[in-house]
Amino acid sequence: MSQQATEQVYGHYIGGEWTEGSGDTFESENPATGETLATFRRGTAAEVDRALEAADEAFEEWRELSYIDRAEYLWDIYHELRERHQELGEIVTKECGKEISEGKADVTEAWHMVEWAAGNARHPHGDVVPSEVAGKDSYMRRKPRGVVGCITPWNFPVAIPFWHMAIALVEGNTVVWKPAEQTPWCGQIIAEMFEDAGIPDGVFNMVQGFGDAGAAITDDERVDTVLFTGSAEVGHGIADKVGGEPGKLAACEMGGKNGIVVTENADMDTAVHSAVMSSFKTTGQRCVSSERLIVHEDVYDEFKERFVDIAQDIAVGDPLEESTFMGPAIEADHVEKIHRHNELAREEGAEVLVDRFELEDSEIPEGHEEGAATAADGERSGSYANGHWVGPFVYEIDYESDLRCLNEECFGPHVALLEYSGDIEDAVEIHNDTPYGLAGAIISEDYRQLNYFRDHADIGLAYANLPCIGAEVQLPFGGVKKSGNGYPSAREAIEAVTERTAWTMNNADEIE
Ligand code: NAD
Repeated sequence: MSQQATEQVYGHYIGGEWTEGSGDTFESENPATGETLATFRRGTAAEVDRALEAADEAFEEWRELSYIDRAEYLWDIYHELRERHQELGEIVTKECGKEISEGKADVTEAWHMVEWAAGNARHPHGDVVPSEVAGKDSYMRRKPRGVVGCITPWNFPVAIPFWHMAIALVEGNTVVWKPAEQTPWCGQIIAEMFEDAGIPDGVFNMVQGFGDAGAAITDDERVDTVLFTGSAEVGHGIADKVGGEPGKLAACEMGGKNGIVVTENADMDTAVHSAVMSSFKTTGQRCVSSERLIVHEDVYDEFKERFVDIAQDIAVGDPLEESTFMGPAIEADHVEKIHRHNELAREEGAEVLVDRFELEDSEIPEGHEEGAATAADGERSGSYANGHWVGPFVYEIDYESDLRCLNEECFGPHVALLEYSGDIEDAVEIHNDTPYGLAGAIISEDYRQLNYFRDHADIGLAYANLPCIGAEVQLPFGGVKKSGNGYPSAREAIEAVTERTAWTMNNADEIE
């Protein structure tokens, strides 16, 4: 499947075969137009069971291949991702609504991951450790854990699956993957890539579906490791359940309530640019998007004026147009969620500076504006019949620790301005005062402030004089506190998909 909309109903890839399974059908929708892209089968416990059986059976043979032989299958996929960059980028954009530059970046990130994981097959995979006793050799060796269940979100529908699966496979595990229900088309294409690469039957399996299919994977005793990226709500449930089972391991990456600290000596162009990019790119639907801008009182008014001016004018547009800065939200339910967060801020005392939740018809890309949908209460919801259009929502509020609007992830173009006085220590105290700890940035020209932020911000991903976005696969990617435990993606995922053996061998003539 490479081109849009056929009559075919697409199924699951299990044990090297395509199968329809027994579940109902569901559709993939273009969030910019509301049109149906394709129809898919919904996976049930029966399909998950067959996929796990196939993965379990394939494991023993797969683990016996050399790392380099296993990586060969991934190299084929690496080349395909590169060759089909534009086409796949457009599919990502059509299915999840991100701007085309971001759609293509999703594909680029995927091949970076595949390149890293396959290239890593030629790198050392253990340690030689000195023994206390002469004549004894000690090593730390790694071996695969077995069957890895991968559950992924919709917002990076190509990159994140490869962040999970490329490493798991090269390390010798077999995989059962459930793509997000909003992006089954991307799931279908990735499964076809594994098929085309000729990966042995059962090594890679894909079951389409919703949370019930995900739960059937995570709950099954044949799964040795669960790699999950998605919301804290779902991830914490998985971590609690799976983490409590002996021998099973769950590595979960979840959301954030990320902040940017702008200090009194920040370069204002850098500060405004970073805040705009971090708050509104991908319509605020990135795990690292910033929803809290913590700005020193000396520069607050200037920052506010410039940031608000841009937020007021940002063009929401057709995501397939290169010039578009912000596309639609993913789905009608998500528009409702953004609406609830905006209203919550208002109820908690926000001074609203920009409210473009309900865009004017003239702001909706041409051809998409007809027939505003209505929310359950009969109010216009901001979700339109021809796409799920929302604009920026910016507010200022007096910082208080327990305000829900400052602590709960909205995952939309919704951002608070918080004024602080005092020194960097005061800013970081506010910055850290959320249950999450994924990402954050500092904008400052003072190296002491930068270093303080690096050492004291409770986050896994810290940026200095940069937008709070971007990931490189050779760096760890993950958070602390409510944002994550273990690393299901990038370099550190090796820890989650391998076991370590401490191997001690006697080379002396006698045993001591
Ligand atoms: P989600 O948690 O709703 O869904 C993620 C996946 O989990 C989907 O495939 C879904 O079908 C599946 N799922 C749902 N219920 C399940 C259950 N009970 N058991 C097993 N699987 C289940 O998240 P989403 O809406 O797809 O993605 C948005 C969230 O993901 C945001 O919170 C965002 O911050 C987070 N995210 C985090 C990162 C990161 O690296 N930290 C990256 C991207 C997105």
